[in-house]
Amino acid sequence: MKNIIYNSTRGEDINVSSINALVRGIADDGGLYVPTHFYNIADLNQMTNSDYKHLTYKIVKYYFPEFSEEEILSYIKNAYDDKFDTPQMTPVVNKAGVYFLELFHGPTLAFKDMALTLLPHLLIGASKRSNSSSKIVILTATSGDTGKAALEAFKNIEGTKIIVLYPSEGVSEIQKRQMITQEGNNVFVIAIKGCFDDAQNAVKQIFADKEFNNIAKNKGYVLSSANSINIGRLIPQTVYYFYAYLQMLKTDKLTAEEKVNIVVPTGNFGNILAAYYCTKMGLPVNKLICASNENNVLYDFFRTGIYDKKRTLKPTISPSMDIIISSNLERLLYDISNENAVLVKNMMKDLNEKGYYKISDELKDNMKIFYGGYADEFDTLKAIEDVYNKSNYLIDTHTAVAYSVYKNYLNTTGDNTKTIIAATASPFKFTRSVCDALKIGMKDTTDFELVKLLSNKTAIPIPPPIHNIETKPILHDTLCEKNDIKDAIKNILEI
Ligand SMILES: *Cc1c(COP(=O)(O)O)cnc(C)c1O
Repeated sequence: MKNIIYNSTRGEDINVSSINALVRGIADDGGLYVPTHFYNIADLNQMTNSDYKHLTYKIVKYYFPEFSEEEILSYIKNAYDDKFDTPQMTPVVNKAGVYFLELFHGPTLAFKDMALTLLPHLLIGASKRSNSSSKIVILTATSGDTGKAALEAFKNIEGTKIIVLYPSEGVSEIQKRQMITQEGNNVFVIAIKGCFDDAQNAVKQIFADKEFNNIAKNKGYVLSSANSINIGRLIPQTVYYFYAYLQMLKTDKLTAEEKVNIVVPTGNFGNILAAYYCTKMGLPVNKLICASNENNVLYDFFRTGIYDKKRTLKPTISPSMDIIISSNLERLLYDISNENAVLVKNMMKDLNEKGYYKISDELKDNMKIFYGGYADEFDTLKAIEDVYNKSNYLIDTHTAVAYSVYKNYLNTTGDNTKTIIAATASPFKFTRSVCDALKIGMKDTTDFELVKLLSNKTAIPIPPPIHNIETKPILHDTLCEKNDIKDAIKNILEI
């Protein structure tokens, strides 16, 4: 087995061990770390009896070769325990003509838990390996779900602090409440006056700020990220796509010769990139359907080959996808250009300076496996209603974007390949919009009352993590102008 190392997509920070890639999160040259090889799961047919943890073990150990087998096994055991409400971890549910891959059975009710419950173990392990006595500071921008999942994962973990930045008006009521009631002796939550992109930019700037990093280092801190720019998030996210496929194979929903389509509701391009990486690892995929909401910059990109960020962010009812700069697309560019770091660097420079970049037709041809679509608010609400009426199955607004885009795809192409939809969050996280779709409650019904009404109407129990959340004390109320983010962080770290 070739030993995996990591290179930056921008070519100046290369031959980095998995340990360092994990701890640093983002490369020194501002690029993202990518593995030099991809694991090939050659014996898929023999793996239908693998459980989720075993599959995770097989994949994760390949990408993080510095860890011993015992270490990886113990990380997995501690991450994927009864924090998840089903031993299956990510059940596949056949409803409304598609296969919903339920990724929301973890402690914070969104797919972010799948990787974020494992990440602290990998990071702490990596930090020990690098013989560092530094405290890890996790700095994370969130469009709503990463924040809570990261807070929950890192709370009270010795040797770490976690700072989460969220757009004050850009998350659902339940998402906000989940974050501002977060307990733990090392957690900090900051609302910013701005959108997700502002938060993400601030985080990227701080990572690239040599002076800031030096001061932090002298104080015994090393900065890292829990965003999907960290390879420690991306790799664990490949597991569930294999798992879904294997479940379908095992239950004879598929034959070994069949390919699947995968639909992913997309924001920062992390989750769908993980699916793309699966295709490089041997998962038989026909199409990867990239579903956007009205912030449809990726839809335009797949159609025209032009990525144009010169547009205003539109707040939608699928707020975790309200993103204009999809960071992980940089990793796709690197891949489809045959690892051309100079090209990637120029594209990113164009994006920064001109506000857009354009790829050649040749590169566009290399991403034919992708199909881009988008759904507006009307389509999204209708998808929730349709799926519920047709199959008595409740989906959240993000999953509904994916379902709606898939329906359009099916109508235009007639492609009847069996299709997996990544169901990325519990409908109870986005109660107001889900209730709007099903015509439950009134304008002045609070989100917390709506949770109860929704549960009554659908006979789905309220998920324990948000049960009585309205009675928990609010522990975080910092609100910050976007230009003051760096100072706010300095304050927290006392540097
Ligand atoms: C984060 C998130 C997304 C978008 O995932 P990306 O990896 O950013 O593309 C979609 N749905 C939900 C519910 C999310 O929390």
